[in-house]
Amino acid sequence: MTFIAMPALLLALSSTALRLTVVEQTLHGRHRPPPGVRHVEVPERLIAAIQALRASPFSHRIEWARAIDSERTPEDAVTALKRVHTLDHLRTIQAMSQTGGGFDTDTYCAPGSWEAMLDGTRAWLHACSVASSGDGPTLALTRPAGHHATADTALGFGLVNFAAAAVAAELAAKPDSYVAILDWDVHHGNGVADIFKDDARVRYCSTHEAGAFPGTGMEEANRGPAGNLLHLPLPSGAGGDEYLKALREKALPFLLEQRPNLFVVCAGYDALEVDPLATMRLKPHHFGESVKVITEQFHFPPQKIMLGLEGGYNLCPDEGMPAALVHTCAALIAE
Ligand SMILES: [Zn+2]
Repeated sequence: MTFIAMPALLLALSSTALRLTVVEQTLHGRHRPPPGVRHVEVPERLIAAIQALRASPFSHRIEWARAIDSERTPEDAVTALKRVHTLDHLRTIQAMSQTGGGFDTDTYCAPGSWEAMLDGTRAWLHACSVASSGDGPTLALTRPAGHHATADTALGFGLVNFAAAAVAAELAAKPDSYVAILDWDVHHGNGVADIFKDDARVRYCSTHEAGAFPGTGMEEANRGPAGNLLHLPLPSGAGGDEYLKALREKALPFLLEQRPNLFVVCAGYDALEVDPLATMRLKPHHFGESVKVITEQFHFPPQKIMLGLEGGYNLCPDEGMPAALVHTCAALIAE
């Protein structure tokens, strides 16, 4: 009797287990550094992330989706981008990506980058809408990080602001809803903060290394004109304890105060100790703990959480971005 009942019970449990939807930016490889130029923002980042998730112990609980197959069309992506960027900015990227070029020494634009940006935007739109409907958690695997891009400027590797475009689309579809954005990338997401600084339906909180690029987000007391921004600079060398304390005591009480319908994470992994771009000292497991603080201590439902990849440039499968991503996702679907 026991012999027969156990598999049935396990089957029942597994049918209700959380699953993670991962949306890949199918065309990301078109966005690549000019030949011969060494750069940390490379297609290998997403390849490493995908390999790590496919090799993870929970790979059977991942639903893979491709942005290129999404019902969110390239036209939808353009509409979403127009809500948060100037037409001039979008036309400049489109024109530059005919031949390749760059906005500054960090921020290149390759032949085909425009198509890659539309595809990345589709990934975020799709992931956001699934989580907003309560069918998450979801992860948009995209590059480059977009959180520095402002309405009219490409910056810090990013040509367009995926997070802002996706959240603005969500608010256009559901004007009475609230969205929380947690940005745990080691750099302040100046672009997201600037784009939403007048919209109290969005709360944005960034934890970042004080004084790191781009040098903004240094004043915790400055909540912006609508009072919806919280900047939490952490000292150089800060580790998981300092980060998790800021998350528990400041970030989440602020972000969850107005009961958001959707929780978006600008999930950068350059606060890892091994990352070449900054000096914070988080370990991969701290990102899993971070998720548990959100879902277990603050009881926010994982089904309404959407993550999108931002930075993270060490690709070591044991200590770098791929490992931290695996810890994050494991915690998101933990029972
Ligand atoms: Zn970063």
